[in-house]
Amino acid sequence: MQALCWHGINRLQVDRVPDPGLAGPHDAIVKVSMSSVCGSDLHLISGYVPAMKPGDVLGHEFLGEIVEVGSEVRGLDRGDRVITVSILACGQCEPCRRKDYSCCDNSNPKPAFTEWLYGLPCAGIIGYSHAFGGYSGSHAEYIRVPYADVNVFKVPDGVRDEQALFVSDAAPTGYMGADLAGIEAGDVVAVWGCGAVGQMAMRSAFLLGAERVIAIDRFADRLRLAADKAGAEPLNYEQVDVHEALIEMTGGRGPDRCIDCVGMEAHGTGPQYWYDRTKQQLRLHTERGVALRQAIRACRKGGTVSVMGVYGGFMDKFPIGAIVNKALTVRSGQQHGQRYVQRLFGHIQAGELDPSYLLTHPMPLADGPHGYDIFKTKQDDCLRAVFLPGAGRPAESTVPHGVPS
Ligand SMILES: [Zn+2]
Ligand SMILES: [Zn+2]
Repeated sequence: MQALCWHGINRLQVDRVPDPGLAGPHDAIVKVSMSSVCGSDLHLISGYVPAMKPGDVLGHEFLGEIVEVGSEVRGLDRGDRVITVSILACGQCEPCRRKDYSCCDNSNPKPAFTEWLYGLPCAGIIGYSHAFGGYSGSHAEYIRVPYADVNVFKVPDGVRDEQALFVSDAAPTGYMGADLAGIEAGDVVAVWGCGAVGQMAMRSAFLLGAERVIAIDRFADRLRLAADKAGAEPLNYEQVDVHEALIEMTGGRGPDRCIDCVGMEAHGTGPQYWYDRTKQQLRLHTERGVALRQAIRACRKGGTVSVMGVYGGFMDKFPIGAIVNKALTVRSGQQHGQRYVQRLFGHIQAGELDPSYLLTHPMPLADGPHGYDIFKTKQDDCLRAVFLPGAGRPAESTVPHGVPS
């Protein structure tokens, strides 16, 4: 089959690779119909997450059709239209029974690296390096999914393909960011990053009771979408001092809840950004913390900072003093998507959430390297490039209305 493979830092290539087969009785094989890029893939491509090997298949947000199930799979059949949660869970271990699915003890068959780095082994993630299980990703014609009954969800009627696709990763991640923030009715919520996860966090914040949402980014098109689609108040950090603006917009209090949807490759302005960038390039620390530091500094006293951007290692100048002296709550995690999928389908069916506008650039899988290029460099207002394996060219029904194809 055809697959988009990693061949070194910033080197991607479409290769012929063997078709996957069932490796256990709880597996399913999914024929991929749509597979999206994600901001967290950029950390792999750039070499910030180690443990990639040449030939690894990328991709963890996808929609497809079941073509084969193992003998113990109960809830899925051939022909089902499905999505898969990108962070894998076994459904049986103690964290899974607690519904902390992304803390699963069993889904990472290569636990040594995360155990060494984080103190305990972490869950497996689809298409996310050998540190997180070495699972082959979804930028391919077919993919094997383990623990299929726990991780694969049938898409209900009334949810279109280009909506369902993002219930795999961006929508539950954004929703969890808002959920962990502990939003109460009337809260002002600030969201750093207007990529797909940020957009979903903003919409989710309103669904969970926020009165106002403030969107922080530097790209005009993303800020415009945050305003038009998510109802947020845009703030361009290249045009204003974010801290001062947030304090002023909240009558001197600071936002009640701050959600970081940026992560380790944060962009910023001023000397602190260049300090972070230089140290990261010299491998003296792994994270650029501009967004997270701003969030912690701006958050109101007694407020909550929810961290959904991906961080992998260590950060200098982490403002622990602001956390202690302002009595902040900091919450984080890889997404526990299995908790949220049905709720998100319900919001989509009720017309309260429509992630389809995230799909800006559908294209054949053969154009994968180009898709990552325009996504990484934010060309042509690209929010998410979506690959259509098996399609010579995008089918008309997969192109959202009004989006250039
Ligand atoms: Zn992702
Ligand atoms: Zn588990």
